[in-house]
Amino acid sequence: MIVLGIETSCDETSVALVEDNKVIANLVYSQILTHKKFGGVVPEIAAREHLKKLPALFNQLLSETQVDISQIDGIAVTKGPGLIGALLVGVSFAKGLALRYNKKLVGVNHIVGHVYANYLAYSELKPPYIVLMVSGGHTLILKVEREGNIRLIGRSVDDAVGEAFDKIARLLNLGYPGGPEIDRVAKLGNPKAFHFPRPKMYDADYDFSFSGLKTAVLYEIEKLKKSGISELPTNDLAASAQEAMIDVLLYKVTKAAKDNNVDKIVLAGGVAANSRLREKLNEFASEIEFYIPPLEFCSDNAAMIARAGMELLKKGIDDGLMLEPVPNLFEMNEIIVGS
Ligand code: ATP
Ligand code: MG
Ligand code: FE
Repeated sequence: MIVLGIETSCDETSVALVEDNKVIANLVYSQILTHKKFGGVVPEIAAREHLKKLPALFNQLLSETQVDISQIDGIAVTKGPGLIGALLVGVSFAKGLALRYNKKLVGVNHIVGHVYANYLAYSELKPPYIVLMVSGGHTLILKVEREGNIRLIGRSVDDAVGEAFDKIARLLNLGYPGGPEIDRVAKLGNPKAFHFPRPKMYDADYDFSFSGLKTAVLYEIEKLKKSGISELPTNDLAASAQEAMIDVLLYKVTKAAKDNNVDKIVLAGGVAANSRLREKLNEFASEIEFYIPPLEFCSDNAAMIARAGMELLKKGIDDGLMLEPVPNLFEMNEIIVGS
């Protein structure tokens, strides 16, 4: 089965063609440079950029792959969660194609897409497994008990971890997006130089809280400035803040795996690129198997949407022209894919 995937939920415009577990092509246009000067994603600009880029990206996909539209079995588009204006662009474009070429159309939950991205990298992966989804918009622990059943067992009650990286980077006058910058300078710093709080680390639940950490870093910076030092120890502050976030993430996700008798953990989302996180996974490697898909499938992309949509299409689902975006889709605790 060949599926066309379309993703426009946030700041990546992406189209892809996927055949079973094989990616024929996955084109991603990141708007990072456009939003950089504002220090974060501006929703209105994101929507307009998708509108500008999507048709050309789609044409490029067909010409590069030499796949004719008649070979496509269905279209899968992200319906949410995400920015409403951005989602509308993708959904409207997908509806136009479905109508013009008489194709089946399914709306895909973006989070389910992140879960199914794993099968593009690890076709042998089988439930049960736990997913640690860490991005700019989400920090979630998901339990995939059996094929098609995804349960939300933990989430951040405030900032997403990628958002915390970005905000702390801004406090330290590092660039945007802050995650890669903190990752870079933290390598030059001492993670034990400052002891920042590890909120909710030992709570019984699997939830997270990251907004307090940003405040703790801010107070530390103010204290240091008042003490009259000439230059902020940026590397040490970055390394220590990063360490606090990674300690909590790893402690809680490995606890979730152990409590649920699961020995496989899959990473998803842009923060999965963090080198310290990847390094520290090794401490648990004797008891838990970690799956880290290549970054192109970890961060937002249309291949994962196509792969998740394939499950729906196989079940005979066709949302047709009634499909509407749902910006706050991830309010539910359990998703049965294709039910
Ligand atoms: P979502 O997927 O939830 O809609 P998003 O598009 O912001 O949100 P991604 O594109 O998956 O998410 O990831 C971007 C986030 O990942 C940013 O917050 C960025 O700072 C963070 N990030 C990227 N690389 C690293 C890194 N090496 N270390 C830590 N964080 C990183
Ligand atoms: Mg993004
Ligand atoms: Fe995402």
